[in-house]
Amino acid sequence: MTQHFLLSKAAKTLSLAQVFRMSDSEAEDTFRRVRWAETKGAPVCPHCGGLDAYECRRPNGSLRFRCRACGKDFTLTSGTLFASHKLPLRTYLAAIAIFCNEVKGKSALAISRDLGLAYKSCFVLLHKLREAMAGEYKDRKLGGEGKVAEVDGGYFGGYVKPANLAENRRDRRLLKNQSGKRQCVVIIRERDGNSLPAVFKAESHAANFIKSRVTHGTKLNADEAGAWESLHKNFEVARINHEEAYSLDGACTNWAESYFSRLRRSEIGHHHHVAGAYLLRYAQEASWREDNRRVSNGDQVHRIAALAMSRKPSVDFSGYWQRHKTA
Ligand SMILES: [Zn+2]
Repeated sequence: MTQHFLLSKAAKTLSLAQVFRMSDSEAEDTFRRVRWAETKGAPVCPHCGGLDAYECRRPNGSLRFRCRACGKDFTLTSGTLFASHKLPLRTYLAAIAIFCNEVKGKSALAISRDLGLAYKSCFVLLHKLREAMAGEYKDRKLGGEGKVAEVDGGYFGGYVKPANLAENRRDRRLLKNQSGKRQCVVIIRERDGNSLPAVFKAESHAANFIKSRVTHGTKLNADEAGAWESLHKNFEVARINHEEAYSLDGACTNWAESYFSRLRRSEIGHHHHVAGAYLLRYAQEASWREDNRRVSNGDQVHRIAALAMSRKPSVDFSGYWQRHKTA
């Protein structure tokens, strides 16, 4: 029997124990090599692009660089998603490692217990990691001549709790008894390739998105839902009627279903509640995890750290708790 990837040695290249054994300077070196990969860790001035900068630590030991060209100071994280970080770099690396190791997602509350940090810091940190992952989705196109992709939709959020007494219960299938907050995640997933999620009010709103992101010549697979009828004009579409079979003559949406399985388990098992505004971010996180499920955990940590270090400070999450004061 072939061994499952996650059980293999190749899957485990970075452990939390290794991260915690790192000295401060080793953690700094790791982030330097991630941030300035082209110069093998030598600092590049974010103000002028100068390559001649020297270390100039603050009296408290925190690492600063000073650019010989423009004279300005900068840190390892200046101008990145981790700008103005308050925690030691090792803690960020540990948080990313924990986040990667939990293949169906990690709740902010759980990571705050793991690392002894405030829940609020972890909530923001995890959202910044999702924002970093989202960077890979901005211009993503899927498919191509001879490629096969699947599309499917799944509904999330807007749960209406049934009333306690049977006499007060209402038919929650009727529109008038729903919350109006339910949203549809639509996934496009190339077989043996990448995936791309988006969020809509209903499955039927997704056709233009699919047409704009799937390359001409791709063979699509979809279920029998009426929402996919218009795709036939642009693509060859194989339809599978799930009342008859899950897979027939090569037509199936099993790749899309396994994506939804992961997203659903992350919602039910880890996050319990996903706020509507952030549904896309959780959908992208699940997609990233699905696409990278055969990548070693060490490489995943490096990828996410590199994505975070190549992005500008977060618009949504810099100073989030100053703007969202709670009692
Ligand atoms: Zn400079």
